[in-house]
Amino acid sequence: MLVPFQKTTFIMSVAKLIQLPDDEGCEIAFAGRSNAGKSTALNAITGVKNLARTSKTPGRTQTINLFKITDEIRLVDLPGYGYAQVPLAMKKEWDKLLSQYLQNRESLRGLCLVMDSRHPLKDFDIHILDWAVSANLPTHILLSKADKLTKLEKIKLEQFLKNNIIDPSGLITYQLFSALKNIGIVEARKKICEWV
Ligand code: GDP
Repeated sequence: MLVPFQKTTFIMSVAKLIQLPDDEGCEIAFAGRSNAGKSTALNAITGVKNLARTSKTPGRTQTINLFKITDEIRLVDLPGYGYAQVPLAMKKEWDKLLSQYLQNRESLRGLCLVMDSRHPLKDFDIHILDWAVSANLPTHILLSKADKLTKLEKIKLEQFLKNNIIDPSGLITYQLFSALKNIGIVEARKKICEWV
Protein backbone atom coordinates (compact mmCIF):
# COMPACT_ATOMS: atom_id res chain seq x y z
CA MET A 1 0.00 0.00 0.00
CA LEU A 2 1.22 3.52 -0.79
CA VAL A 3 1.38 5.53 2.40
CA PRO A 4 1.16 9.34 2.12
CA PHE A 5 3.84 10.01 4.75
CA GLN A 6 3.95 13.74 4.01
CA LYS A 7 0.37 14.10 5.23
CA THR A 8 1.32 13.08 8.75
CA THR A 9 -0.05 15.34 11.46
CA PHE A 10 0.07 15.31 15.25
CA ILE A 11 -3.05 13.94 16.96
CA MET A 12 -2.35 13.88 20.69
CA SER A 13 -0.03 12.98 23.54
CA VAL A 14 -1.17 10.52 26.18
CA ALA A 15 0.37 9.42 29.46
CA LYS A 16 -1.68 6.24 29.92
CA LEU A 17 -2.68 3.42 27.60
CA ILE A 18 -6.34 3.91 28.46
CA GLN A 19 -6.18 7.35 26.83
CA LEU A 20 -5.12 5.92 23.46
CA PRO A 21 -7.52 6.20 20.51
CA ASP A 22 -9.80 3.23 19.76
CA ASP A 23 -7.76 0.15 18.97
CA GLU A 24 -8.65 -0.03 15.26
CA GLY A 25 -6.95 0.67 11.93
CA CYS A 26 -3.15 0.26 11.79
CA GLU A 27 -0.48 1.53 14.11
CA ILE A 28 3.27 1.59 13.54
CA ALA A 29 5.23 2.28 16.70
CA PHE A 30 8.68 3.82 17.18
CA ALA A 31 10.74 2.98 20.22
CA GLY A 32 14.33 3.51 21.25
CA ARG A 33 16.69 4.64 23.97
CA SER A 34 16.68 8.38 24.63
CA ASN A 35 18.97 10.14 22.24
CA ALA A 36 19.06 7.20 19.79
CA GLY A 37 17.66 9.47 17.09
CA LYS A 38 14.00 8.38 17.18
CA SER A 39 12.50 11.85 16.70
CA THR A 40 14.94 12.63 13.92
CA ALA A 41 14.03 9.33 12.24
CA LEU A 42 10.30 10.09 12.49
CA ASN A 43 10.81 13.51 10.93
CA ALA A 44 12.96 12.06 8.12
CA ILE A 45 10.66 9.14 7.32
CA THR A 46 7.53 11.28 7.18
CA GLY A 47 9.34 14.15 5.52
CA VAL A 48 7.54 16.48 7.91
CA LYS A 49 9.97 18.86 9.59
CA ASN A 50 9.62 19.19 13.35
CA LEU A 51 6.84 16.59 13.52
CA ALA A 52 8.47 14.85 16.46
CA ARG A 53 10.48 17.19 18.59
CA THR A 54 14.12 16.24 18.80
CA SER A 55 15.32 16.29 22.35
CA LYS A 56 18.00 18.57 23.71
CA THR A 57 17.48 16.89 27.08
CA PRO A 58 17.46 13.10 26.86
CA GLY A 59 14.48 11.55 28.61
CA ARG A 60 12.34 14.64 28.25
CA THR A 61 9.59 12.99 26.22
CA GLN A 62 7.61 10.90 28.67
CA THR A 63 4.33 10.72 26.86
CA ILE A 64 3.18 8.57 23.98
CA ASN A 65 2.80 10.89 21.01
CA LEU A 66 0.36 9.93 18.29
CA PHE A 67 0.40 11.02 14.68
CA LYS A 68 -2.09 10.37 11.95
CA ILE A 69 -1.08 9.60 8.37
CA THR A 70 -4.59 8.73 7.16
CA ASP A 71 -7.80 7.92 9.05
CA GLU A 72 -6.61 4.32 9.08
CA ILE A 73 -2.88 4.68 9.79
CA ARG A 74 -1.23 6.11 12.89
CA LEU A 75 2.40 6.48 13.94
CA VAL A 76 3.05 6.05 17.64
CA ASP A 77 6.12 7.65 19.22
CA LEU A 78 6.79 5.71 22.42
CA PRO A 79 8.70 7.28 25.33
CA GLY A 80 12.50 7.03 25.05
CA TYR A 81 14.02 4.72 27.64
CA GLY A 82 17.37 4.11 29.25
CA TYR A 83 17.98 7.58 30.62
CA ALA A 84 20.12 7.01 33.70
CA GLN A 85 18.80 9.90 35.76
CA VAL A 86 15.16 8.85 35.72
CA PRO A 87 13.98 7.56 39.14
CA LEU A 88 13.55 3.79 39.37
CA ALA A 89 9.81 4.02 40.06
CA MET A 90 9.33 5.96 36.84
CA LYS A 91 11.47 3.49 34.89
CA LYS A 92 9.24 0.69 36.14
CA GLU A 93 6.16 2.59 35.02
CA TRP A 94 7.62 3.00 31.52
CA ASP A 95 8.59 -0.67 31.36
CA LYS A 96 5.03 -1.61 32.20
CA LEU A 97 3.55 0.83 29.73
CA LEU A 98 5.82 -0.27 26.88
CA SER A 99 5.41 -3.98 27.47
CA GLN A 100 1.63 -3.72 27.79
CA TYR A 101 1.36 -1.58 24.69
CA LEU A 102 3.61 -3.83 22.59
CA GLN A 103 1.97 -7.04 23.71
CA ASN A 104 -1.69 -6.06 23.75
CA ARG A 105 -2.34 -3.46 21.08
CA GLU A 106 -4.43 -5.15 18.37
CA SER A 107 -3.91 -2.45 15.75
CA LEU A 108 -0.12 -2.55 16.10
CA ARG A 109 1.32 -3.84 12.80
CA GLY A 110 5.02 -3.28 13.32
CA LEU A 111 7.65 -1.72 15.51
CA CYS A 112 10.56 0.44 14.38
CA LEU A 113 13.23 0.13 17.02
CA VAL A 114 15.80 2.90 16.74
CA MET A 115 19.31 2.12 18.00
CA ASP A 116 22.38 4.28 17.76
CA SER A 117 24.50 2.23 15.33
CA ARG A 118 27.55 2.80 17.57
CA HIS A 119 25.75 1.35 20.62
CA PRO A 120 23.44 -1.43 19.40
CA LEU A 121 21.54 -4.00 21.45
CA LYS A 122 21.69 -2.48 24.92
CA ASP A 123 19.85 -4.34 27.70
CA PHE A 124 16.51 -2.66 27.26
CA ASP A 125 16.66 -3.01 23.46
CA ILE A 126 16.99 -6.75 23.97
CA HIS A 127 14.07 -6.64 26.40
CA ILE A 128 11.93 -4.95 23.76
CA LEU A 129 12.96 -7.46 21.11
CA ASP A 130 11.94 -10.27 23.47
CA TRP A 131 8.52 -8.70 24.03
CA ALA A 132 8.11 -8.16 20.30
CA VAL A 133 8.97 -11.74 19.42
CA SER A 134 6.70 -13.12 22.15
CA ALA A 135 3.88 -10.95 20.79
CA ASN A 136 4.62 -12.06 17.21
CA LEU A 137 5.22 -8.44 16.29
CA PRO A 138 7.37 -7.66 13.21
CA THR A 139 10.22 -5.40 14.30
CA HIS A 140 12.53 -3.39 12.11
CA ILE A 141 15.70 -2.03 13.68
CA LEU A 142 16.88 1.35 12.40
CA LEU A 143 20.61 1.61 13.06
CA SER A 144 20.73 5.36 13.34
CA LYS A 145 23.56 7.85 12.84
CA ALA A 146 25.12 5.46 10.30
CA ASP A 147 26.95 8.48 8.87
CA LYS A 148 29.28 8.18 11.87
CA LEU A 149 30.43 4.65 11.00
CA THR A 150 33.42 3.73 8.88
CA LYS A 151 33.13 0.96 6.31
CA LEU A 152 34.85 -1.48 8.64
CA GLU A 153 32.58 -0.55 11.54
CA LYS A 154 29.56 -1.23 9.33
CA ILE A 155 30.87 -4.70 8.54
CA LYS A 156 31.54 -5.38 12.22
CA LEU A 157 28.09 -4.15 13.17
CA GLU A 158 26.44 -6.46 10.65
CA GLN A 159 28.42 -9.39 12.06
CA PHE A 160 27.57 -8.43 15.64
CA LEU A 161 23.85 -8.32 14.87
CA LYS A 162 23.95 -11.60 12.98
CA ASN A 163 25.58 -13.26 15.97
CA ASN A 164 23.44 -11.68 18.66
CA ILE A 165 19.91 -11.51 17.35
CA ILE A 166 18.25 -14.83 17.94
CA ASP A 167 15.15 -14.82 15.82
CA PRO A 168 14.08 -18.17 14.42
CA SER A 169 10.68 -16.76 13.42
CA GLY A 170 12.25 -14.13 11.13
CA LEU A 171 10.30 -11.25 12.66
CA ILE A 172 13.31 -9.03 13.19
CA THR A 173 14.94 -7.11 10.36
CA TYR A 174 17.47 -4.29 10.40
CA GLN A 175 19.05 -1.63 8.26
CA LEU A 176 21.47 1.27 8.44
CA PHE A 177 19.85 4.66 8.80
CA SER A 178 20.97 8.27 8.78
CA ALA A 179 18.63 11.21 8.62
CA LEU A 180 21.64 13.48 8.28
CA LYS A 181 23.09 11.76 5.19
CA ASN A 182 19.82 10.45 3.81
CA ILE A 183 20.76 6.80 4.26
CA GLY A 184 17.98 4.21 4.36
CA ILE A 185 14.97 6.53 4.44
CA VAL A 186 13.36 4.91 1.38
CA GLU A 187 14.05 1.44 2.77
CA ALA A 188 12.41 2.34 6.11
CA ARG A 189 9.35 3.74 4.32
CA LYS A 190 9.09 0.54 2.27
CA LYS A 191 9.04 -1.55 5.44
CA ILE A 192 6.20 0.52 6.89
CA CYS A 193 4.27 0.25 3.60
CA GLU A 194 4.68 -3.53 3.78
CA TRP A 195 3.16 -3.59 7.25
CA VAL A 196 0.02 -1.53 6.64
P1 GDP B 1 15.61 10.83 20.43
O1 GDP B 1 15.85 11.21 21.87
O2 GDP B 1 15.78 9.36 20.23
O3 GDP B 1 14.33 11.35 19.86
O4 GDP B 1 16.83 11.45 19.60
P2 GDP B 1 16.89 12.75 18.67
O5 GDP B 1 16.19 12.52 17.38
O6 GDP B 1 16.49 13.94 19.48
O7 GDP B 1 18.47 12.78 18.35
C1 GDP B 1 19.44 12.80 19.37
C2 GDP B 1 20.70 13.45 18.87
O8 GDP B 1 21.27 12.67 17.81
C3 GDP B 1 20.46 14.84 18.29
O9 GDP B 1 21.54 15.67 18.67
C4 GDP B 1 20.45 14.61 16.80
O10 GDP B 1 20.88 15.73 16.06
C5 GDP B 1 21.44 13.46 16.65
N1 GDP B 1 21.11 12.66 15.44
C6 GDP B 1 19.93 12.11 15.13
N2 GDP B 1 19.97 11.45 13.95
C7 GDP B 1 21.22 11.60 13.49
C8 GDP B 1 21.91 11.14 12.30
O11 GDP B 1 21.35 10.48 11.39
N3 GDP B 1 23.23 11.45 12.19
C9 GDP B 1 23.89 12.16 13.15
N4 GDP B 1 25.20 12.39 12.97
N5 GDP B 1 23.28 12.62 14.26
C10 GDP B 1 21.96 12.36 14.43
